[in-house]
Amino acid sequence: MKSAVYVKAGQVGIVDVARPEIQSPDDAIIRIVRTCVCGSDLWSYRNENMKAGQINSGHEALGIVEAIGDNVTTVKPGDFVIAPFTHGCGHCDACHAGFDGTCDEHPGMENWSSGVQAEYMRFEHANWALIKVPGQPSDYTEGMLNSLLTLADVMPTGYHAARVADVKPGDKVVIIGDGAVGQCAVIAAKMRGASQIIIMSRHEDRQNMALESGATAVVAERGEEGIAKVREILGGGADVALECVGTEASIDQALGVLHNGGRIGFVGVPHYSNHALGSTFAQNHIIGGGAASVTTYVKQELLKAVLDGDINPGRVFTHTYKLEDIDQAYKDMDERRAIKSLIILE
Ligand SMILES: [Zn+2]
Ligand SMILES: [Zn+2]
Repeated sequence: MKSAVYVKAGQVGIVDVARPEIQSPDDAIIRIVRTCVCGSDLWSYRNENMKAGQINSGHEALGIVEAIGDNVTTVKPGDFVIAPFTHGCGHCDACHAGFDGTCDEHPGMENWSSGVQAEYMRFEHANWALIKVPGQPSDYTEGMLNSLLTLADVMPTGYHAARVADVKPGDKVVIIGDGAVGQCAVIAAKMRGASQIIIMSRHEDRQNMALESGATAVVAERGEEGIAKVREILGGGADVALECVGTEASIDQALGVLHNGGRIGFVGVPHYSNHALGSTFAQNHIIGGGAASVTTYVKQELLKAVLDGDINPGRVFTHTYKLEDIDQAYKDMDERRAIKSLIILE
């Protein structure tokens, strides 16, 4: 089968690899019909130390179940499924608490997908984590399929930021990051009843998308200037900041816009290490964040919200490619032409 691999910094290619097979009784093999490029894949794509031939870090897919292990009872071959990037067990303390993105039973990378920019994937720990969608892909419009694909990662990730920061009706919320996750955080803040939602963005297409999804104001300035602008719009500090980038500058921005006692939900994969616990003692900030509880949110709320047409996160896909054109899909996101690149397989 065809699979994407990193060639060197700034280049992805397609190679032929063996089709994955069932290796454990809780596995499912999935034929992928749609996948995409994540903002987090761009960290690998830009990495100068990347080894040539390293398998792609893609982790979001929609597909059809091809085969299942002996212990899988929740899906069967032929079923249409969302393949979350997370693989919670559904019964440990973390999963019960609604944190299946960091399942106690599946430490570290064992709980997270990779390599799904390919024709097939092996989905580990499938029985609880995999999500069946009613019908078949042909029953859905393009827009609906795109929204279903966002349920594998970016929509639940945006939702996670809002959940761990406990966004409540009436809250004033600032979103840091105007990529696909930031856009989904806008949707999530609105779902949870935020009264004001400020998106920090310098790009007109992204500003407009956020405004269509429920943002009430845009701040293009950054740093101290951006913080001052937010405070001017809100008439004070924000209740909540949702950090959807993963840089030190974006964390500083999040800390800067809050009033004392404000809350941060951070879901940008951290590429910084010097914000010690305790650095916010004088502000009483409440800080939560980590890998999203994809299966929990999708089963509880997000699948229904998409199927009912209440939310349209699929609008984050601005550009579409074939798997063969994966390099262009990365390039267009890296150079910020595409907000999120969609890959449709034959
Ligand atoms: Zn991702
Ligand atoms: Zn678990």
